[in-house]
Amino acid sequence: MHADEILRALHLDPDQLRAGDRVVHSPIDGLPVARLKETDQAGAEAAIGRAAAAFRDWRAVPPPRRGELVRRFGNELRAHKDALGALVTLECGKIIQEGLGEVQEMIDICDFAVGLSRQLYGLTIASERPGHRMAETWHPLGVVGIISAFNFPVAVWSWNVTLALVCGNATVWKPSEKTPLTALACQALLRRAMAEIDEAPEGLSEVLVGGASVGEQLVDDPRVALVSATGSTAMGRAVGPRVASRFGRSLLELGGNNAVIVTPSADLDLALRAIVFAAVGTAGQRCTTTRRLFLHRDIADQLVARLRQAWQSVRVGDPRKPDTLVGPLIDQAAFDKIQRVLEQLRAEGSRVHGGERVNPEGLDGGWYVKPAIVDRRGVAENVLEETFAPILHVFDYDALDEVIERHNAVPQGLSSAIFTTDLREAERFLSATGSDCGIANVNIGTSGAEIGGAFGGEKETGGGRESGSDAWKAYMRRQTATVNYSRELPLAQGIRFDIS
Ligand code: NAD
Repeated sequence: MHADEILRALHLDPDQLRAGDRVVHSPIDGLPVARLKETDQAGAEAAIGRAAAAFRDWRAVPPPRRGELVRRFGNELRAHKDALGALVTLECGKIIQEGLGEVQEMIDICDFAVGLSRQLYGLTIASERPGHRMAETWHPLGVVGIISAFNFPVAVWSWNVTLALVCGNATVWKPSEKTPLTALACQALLRRAMAEIDEAPEGLSEVLVGGASVGEQLVDDPRVALVSATGSTAMGRAVGPRVASRFGRSLLELGGNNAVIVTPSADLDLALRAIVFAAVGTAGQRCTTTRRLFLHRDIADQLVARLRQAWQSVRVGDPRKPDTLVGPLIDQAAFDKIQRVLEQLRAEGSRVHGGERVNPEGLDGGWYVKPAIVDRRGVAENVLEETFAPILHVFDYDALDEVIERHNAVPQGLSSAIFTTDLREAERFLSATGSDCGIANVNIGTSGAEIGGAFGGEKETGGGRESGSDAWKAYMRRQTATVNYSRELPLAQGIRFDIS
C-alpha cells in the first residue's frame, strides 16, 4: 500500500500532514512521509488542561462503562489491523509480521483492560477495633502523561492508555519524535471509539507532537499525576528526578542488557531458534533483545558455529517483503553507532562477524545492516552497556554460580533466559539467588513477552511495571477507609484519651 493510502485507511488526511516543519522519514528508504506541525508550549498547556478537565468527568463514569470504550477501541484496532501494522512498518521499519504483532498486542491489552474494568478490586482488612470496618479502595489518579520510544511506537502506548482509561484517568501522549504518525493514527481510532460513548469527554486522550522539550512539559506540569516514560536510561535519569521533585509519580521503562545462558543439558536446536529471534528480530531494536550470550564451555564451540551459520542466512532487506526477517535500523545515527562499537570490539581482539551495511535495491536512503555476532571468549567477561542494535556478544563459562554472578553484574535488569533441561538449574535461575531481572524465562528467548504478565525491569531499567498482572495499580490512588458503626470510640493502638 502507498503511504497516502495507509494514512487514509486510518482516517488521517495526508494533506493535513504536510503543513508543518517536523519532517517524518521512513527508515525503509529515508524518504519523507509527512511534515507535521509541532505542538508548541501553549498547545501543550492547553492539551494538558483539556485532559485535566476530562478527568473530572471521566473519574465518575462507572468502570465497566469505561471498559466499554476500550472494548470499542479494540474493535477499531481489529478493523484497522492491517493498515496500522503497515504504518508501523512504514514509520519504524519493522517487518510486516512484527508490525501486525504490535497491533495484535494492542488488541490483547484492550481485552485485558475490558476484563479489568470489572475487577478493580480492593481489600477488606480486619480492624483491631470492635464495630469497625476497614477497606482499601482504588480511585482514579488524574492525568497520565505517556512518553514513548520509537521502537514500540504503538503497543507501549496501548498498555498505558487502556489501563489508564479503565482506571478512570485521562491521558496525554508524547510519542517519539521519530514515530508521530502512528500516534496520530491511534488517536484517530480512539476518537472513533469515543464518539460512540456519550460519557467520553473531549480531551480524554491528547497527543503532543515533538521532541524531548515537549516531553519535558509533561514532566514538569503538576496537573500530570503520573508520567509513564519508556526510553533510554539517559532519558529516565533526566525524567525520574524531575517528576519526583514535584512529588509526581513516575513509571519508568528504560534500557535493557538482556542475557541468555545455555547450559550443557540444553536442547540446542530450540536454543538456537530462540536466540536468533531474540537477538536479530526487530533489527536488535527491542528493549528485550538478547545482547549477551553465556555458553557453557562444553557446548560453546558447537553452538557458536551454528549461530554464525544462522547469522549468515538471516535475510536483511525491505521490511514490506514477506520473506524479510530483518528490516532497517531507525536511522543513520544507529548505523554509525554500531560501526563505532564494532571497531572498538575488533581493537580489543574480539572476533566480529557481520555488521556490514546492506544495500537493498532501490532503498538507498535506508540504513540496513547484517546482524553482528561477536565472539569475545578469552577476551572479555561481560558487556555493561546497551547498544540498541543487532550485536550479540558471546562469552563462555564453567559453573552456574559464576555465570549467574556475571549475568547480574550489569547496571540493567530487564529480561533474562536460561536454556536447560535440568530442573535444578532452571529453578535456581528463577530463585531469589538467580536472575535479578524483572523477566526471567526458561527455554524461551528474552523478547516477546505476553501481555498477561507485568512487564518491566529492575535497576537502571527503572523499576516500572506495565501491562498485565496488577500493573493497573500504578494508575490509581489507594485509599484506606475505616468506618465506625458502633456507639463507642475506641482508639487505635488501645490509646486512652478521655475527656471530662
Ligand atoms: P529515547 O530515550 O531517545 O526517547 C524516548 C522518548 O523520550 C522520546 O519520546 C523522547 O522524545 C523522550 N525524551 C527524551 N528525553 C526526554 C526528556 N528529558 N524529557 C522528556 N522526554 C524525553 O529512546 P529511543 O531511542 O526512542 O528508544 C530506545 C530506548 O528505549 C532503548 O534504550 C530501549 O531499551 C528503551 N526501551 C525500553 C522499553 C522498556 O519497556 N523497558 C521499551 C522500549 C524501548
